[in-house]
Amino acid sequence: MVASVAPLTAPVEPDEALRRIAFLLERERAGSYRVEAFRKAVVTVRETPPEELRRHHAEGTLQKLPGIGKSTAAVVGEALDGDLPAYLMSLQDRAGALVTGGEELFASLKGDCHSHSSWSDGGSPIEEMVLTAVELGHEWLALTDHSPQLRVANGLSVERLTKQLSIVDAVNRSLGDGFRLLKGIEVDILDDGSLDQTEAMLGRLDVVTASVHSKLRMNAAPMTRRMVAAVSNPRVNVLGHCTGRLVTGSRGKRPQSEFDAQAVFEACAEHGTAVEINSRPERCDPPDELVLLALEIGCLFAIDSDAHAPGQLEMKAYGCERAERLGVPADRIVTTWDVDRLLDWTSS
Ligand SMILES: [Zn+2]
Ligand SMILES: [Zn+2]
Repeated sequence: MVASVAPLTAPVEPDEALRRIAFLLERERAGSYRVEAFRKAVVTVRETPPEELRRHHAEGTLQKLPGIGKSTAAVVGEALDGDLPAYLMSLQDRAGALVTGGEELFASLKGDCHSHSSWSDGGSPIEEMVLTAVELGHEWLALTDHSPQLRVANGLSVERLTKQLSIVDAVNRSLGDGFRLLKGIEVDILDDGSLDQTEAMLGRLDVVTASVHSKLRMNAAPMTRRMVAAVSNPRVNVLGHCTGRLVTGSRGKRPQSEFDAQAVFEACAEHGTAVEINSRPERCDPPDELVLLALEIGCLFAIDSDAHAPGQLEMKAYGCERAERLGVPADRIVTTWDVDRLLDWTSS
């Protein structure tokens, strides 16, 4: 297996086998319905006392437990017998590298400025995102759930974000020194370029990634003003998926928004706002020619996963392939920086 996470070998705990299967399915972009079965089974297994789990296995009644079906029961049973579950083995065997190229840059990444949990439209709890980031060798991860306007994505109100920040503190206390979960947001850039969260809340965050999610077809002049205003805002650190294009995938295709990229990237460079290289294959945003333009103008970059599930955190490999091929120097990429340098930059 060439994935960035070392393969599991027997013996393996049933919940570890299930979560690794979910990770590998997410990584190969399997349907969320299939992944969900394994993620749900993890919860059930963790909530079931070990002796009860063994008794169900011995009696052949694992499927009587909530959320356990035929394939998840087989995985649990094989793990309880001390074997490496066959399904896990086959997934590990076929897990090749996501992409050829950019390996060195990927290995030098230390964090990610864009990730979602089940608090907004992600599929997994914060703790699971963090655990996977640790397994991938990250040193930090910015948790950037959506802002209130994005109701379809269950964007966080001031109250919910406040609550999330105390959970981030608790996660960091339990993690110790080796890893830092950063407080963040993917804040909507409103029509006039203002941000969809209060100034006081934004001031409490470590990383602010700002993205356009509405009125993507606005005329170029107002769209340029909107984006320039956002990236010039001292609270904004990263400009997320700047063109909004979709190039493949279940949501279909969407053309780039129209704006004066020269003006937007010049404002990014002037205000120290990083241009995101969004690694999601369906976004692949910005396109090559705009990455080259931002490079020439002197912008910083953030290679982000925009992960909505733990297995998607590794998708930064795609962004790294692009950045390396386009000649973006590693030191201009803020996600290669250690957490102290990153926080110096975001707070300046
Ligand atoms: Zn977004
Ligand atoms: Zn996002």
